[in-house]
Amino acid sequence: MMTESQPTILVIEDEDPIRKFLRVSLSAQGYRLVESTTARDGLLQAASAQPDLIILDLGLPDMDGVELTRRIREWSKVPILIVSARGKEQDKVVALDAGADDYLTKPFGLSELLARMRVALRHTSATRIGGEPLFENGTLRVDLARREVHIAGRPLHLTPNEYRLLALLVKYAGRVLTHRQLLKEVWGPGSSQETHYLRVYMNQLRQKIEADPAQPRFLLTEPGVGYRLADS
Ligand code: CA
Repeated sequence: MMTESQPTILVIEDEDPIRKFLRVSLSAQGYRLVESTTARDGLLQAASAQPDLIILDLGLPDMDGVELTRRIREWSKVPILIVSARGKEQDKVVALDAGADDYLTKPFGLSELLARMRVALRHTSATRIGGEPLFENGTLRVDLARREVHIAGRPLHLTPNEYRLLALLVKYAGRVLTHRQLLKEVWGPGSSQETHYLRVYMNQLRQKIEADPAQPRFLLTEPGVGYRLADS
């Protein structure tokens, strides 16, 4: 961490204790912090401070965080990590579909926050250099450039849709993708309601990739929200 330049984190959060917790713990990790207590100020800071990551509370005094996410997404791809007391599946889906990158329900632990931040920041740098073509985690190896998948050193045959689904999860490894995002990317914009496609294909993928498909280690379900490929 000390060898890299300090990433700038914009925290948009109106609750003082949480802002203070983030300030103390993230500064100790070498992050540079910029803080806003309102959506209006957060929007200005998002433009002027050029943050590498935004940590956003949904319940802000002047605007809902989902609406703020949409506004930022009109001109910026900066990773947005939602931290919210709203823990319902539908709240997560709405925020992720609005363009947020990930979602943590309050109260959350520092180690989990740091892990999600690392994923979001790594994705940013990977995007900047044109994407990392090789994904490896334990026995699973996916070479996006060669379109090859190996499990425990053994080549795996996937159907075109199975591969597209896996490649998409690899591209966003560690991040949750909603049902709608996965369906739209793999099957096209008209398929966003066809969640049974996903269940079928995810099942097939698990049969091929997981040692125990009933206890997946790689293809993780986020109940009611979507799926996440474990990246470690
Ligand atoms: Ca709040």
